[in-house]
Amino acid sequence: TKMLFNDQIMERGNLIDIEDRGYQFGDGIYEVIGVYDGKPLMMDEHLERLERSAREVQLKLPDSISVLKRNLEELVAANQLNEGIIYMQVSRGAAQRWHEFPGLDVTPVTVAYTREEERMTEVENQGANAVLTEDIRWLRCDIKTLNLLPNVMAKQKAVENNAVEAILHRGDTVTEASASNVFIVKDGELYTHPANNFILNGITRRKIIQLCDELNIKVNEETFTVNELLSADEVFVTATKSDIIPILKIDDQTIGTGSPGDITKKVLQEFRSLYQHGVKN
Ligand code: PLP
Repeated sequence: TKMLFNDQIMERGNLIDIEDRGYQFGDGIYEVIGVYDGKPLMMDEHLERLERSAREVQLKLPDSISVLKRNLEELVAANQLNEGIIYMQVSRGAAQRWHEFPGLDVTPVTVAYTREEERMTEVENQGANAVLTEDIRWLRCDIKTLNLLPNVMAKQKAVENNAVEAILHRGDTVTEASASNVFIVKDGELYTHPANNFILNGITRRKIIQLCDELNIKVNEETFTVNELLSADEVFVTATKSDIIPILKIDDQTIGTGSPGDITKKVLQEFRSLYQHGVKN
């Protein structure tokens, strides 16, 4: 398959310097964009978030967003990707290993590739379990950086317990999950952690808030506690490509009726209509 290396589409290969700062420090930012029927979903929103992440870590993107967009579209076409994801990252570049930023002569390194992935229709329809774990991350979770070790460890705990996700809490407050945002339903209204420094403001999350607004389902961007999570009527997690996954059980606690709830199903159906034109299931 082909990859994007800076602004060239080329055969995938080993082109990364051992002193690339992404590799050594996790000093870089990334995005994952879903591709449905050969079309990237909400590419502009993802690239806008990349721009914001770059600004927040003082990384100067080497290419304009419009060039990046064109290159990524070209990559999808070159790989004839129909269903899957685009992964892209920009590291601060390769330089002798000193913690501080390198000089201005060092250019950030952009890499992107695609991966075929089936739609997760079954787990989205049937739901899955989650585990709870303490949120041990830093205080700028709003930036989509390459530093993912706490997320990796949390997801590993989930997998070891046959769960799809690890839901994170800072003390008593539920923040998000290892690679997704968390919503609960209580008395017909949705609650999700506000978009501040404690969570990544998911593109899927934002779209769901917008869709719920159109559906007249009230969304409260307010924190909720671990107990409120466990006693919610419905719980679901949201992320690129896995869209919306109903959570049926958290640790040993069954959520609601133990099957996907009506509001969750409605939101999922509405979300699917973004890429399934005319076909609803
Ligand atoms: N929260 C975290 C920590 C993530 O890594 C992700 C990425 O998948 C999300 C939330 C969901 O964001 P998005 O909907 O933009 O994929």
